[in-house]
Amino acid sequence: MLSVETPTTYYTATRKYDLKFPDLEQTIDTEIVVIGGGFSGVNTALELMESGVKDVVLLEARYLGFGGSGRNGGHVMAGIGHDLEKIRNSVGEQGLRAVFEISDLGASIIQSRIARYGIDADFQHGYGYMGFNKRQGKLLQAWEKEFRQLSPGHDIEYLEGNAVRSIIGSDYYSCALKHMGNGHMHSLNMLLGSAKALASLGGRIFENTPVLEVSYGDTITVRTAKGAVRAKKILWSCGAFLDRLEPYLHKRIVNTYAYQLVTEPLSVDLIEQISPIRGAFSDIRPVIDYYRVTRENRVLFGSATKAIEYIPRDLKAWNRSLMLNVFPYLRDVKVDLAWGGPMECSANLFPQVGTLPGWPNAFYVQGYSGFGVTPSHVVSQVVAQGMLGGSHHWDVMRSIKPTRIVGKEHWRNLICTLGKISHQLVGYTNGRR
Ligand SMILES: Cc1cc2nc3c(=O)[nH]c(=O)nc-3n(C[C@H](O)[C@H](O)[C@H](O)COP(=O)(O)OP(=O)(O)OC[C@H]3O[C@@H](n4cnc5c(N)ncnc54)[C@H](O)[C@@H]3O)c2cc1C
Repeated sequence: MLSVETPTTYYTATRKYDLKFPDLEQTIDTEIVVIGGGFSGVNTALELMESGVKDVVLLEARYLGFGGSGRNGGHVMAGIGHDLEKIRNSVGEQGLRAVFEISDLGASIIQSRIARYGIDADFQHGYGYMGFNKRQGKLLQAWEKEFRQLSPGHDIEYLEGNAVRSIIGSDYYSCALKHMGNGHMHSLNMLLGSAKALASLGGRIFENTPVLEVSYGDTITVRTAKGAVRAKKILWSCGAFLDRLEPYLHKRIVNTYAYQLVTEPLSVDLIEQISPIRGAFSDIRPVIDYYRVTRENRVLFGSATKAIEYIPRDLKAWNRSLMLNVFPYLRDVKVDLAWGGPMECSANLFPQVGTLPGWPNAFYVQGYSGFGVTPSHVVSQVVAQGMLGGSHHWDVMRSIKPTRIVGKEHWRNLICTLGKISHQLVGYTNGRR
């Protein structure tokens, strides 16, 4: 069984911020309490403080970045959700346009936050969305038009045949969409740099402080292991680690797992061969392979099981065989570390935001469905707007009612497998296979 307890990852091994926050040992009062120290919690808290909220308290059960935010591929990509068409029925044509308008803001929010607070997150431009066949090529050409409309100033180009080699040293693909406005970063350092900014604005952060119970009302009381917080508003942002603490939210997500490896440092020549643009890449299949080069000239490669949900026994070997499909010439390269973690999925693979039924001061964000690094930066901005009185984007996003996942607790793995198989089949109609 894969341990999700304090894994050693590429990120924990190369973290640059030595931040430590106390655990909560008393009862305190605040305006807004945020549960969860990942991108959703930290980004929303930062947006709130930047907007003039005087006091925000953030509670993290373990340490900042313990969840998906400290374990992922670090890809800075375009979009929110896996397929905007899936939300057309909920939001209508105008709503879809509103979501489309903000869908590409994540990369620019990340870059302006890095510049504003001097965050040391190894941001690197250069991204390739990779395709294997003509059908995927057609989809990439449609994306080319959309991305150019959203980010007119960027070098965005559809590539076919030999031209693909200008961005990646692999014969695995037949086409690609190069997007030089997207790229990659050290996500844990990005998170910690943002948390440092949050603390500098007066946000109060507590680590090793698991929330055990919440009572709702005009004043919300959050009981933790050794203390309590009383607040006017709460944000639930626990991602895949929520467990059953808030049943309404738990019943609207199901967890799937993703796995990562990182190679030993490679020679500059080899990195140049792997990617002349030192970029990040992902194919566009329903369940993707995604990878990038790091600042230390390593390859960081990730994926998930394609249909049946299971945890591979040997994570290094499992991921390595996928990496060798793309780069067969890395067969003698040593894999230094492998790790994994759960990611919470929603039925429509679109992030869920809103307030709990009957409690207009109890907000939530979850359900990124494995695509949360960049989207969480946009969605958190929208959630902060919602918490501060609302906005058009908040109204549109919260109008997408999260579907309840039916079935008994011990069926969850099976539900996830069925979801993956259906996602694979739909891939034939939406151009992803
Ligand atoms: C292995 C892996 C690879 C991934 N790769 C990518 C990728 O390449 N690109 C991409 O876009 N996305 C990727 N993701 C998904 C992405 O990382 C997440 O969607 C994103 O980080 C979600 O952030 P979050 O803040 O919502 O949740 P998290 O980062 O999971 O944070 C939730 C936090 O809540 C805390 N918490 C839970 N319960 C409590 C409680 N009771 N009290 C206090 N705190 C609590 C947890 O300890 C955790 O730190 C990946 C995820 C994993 C696991």
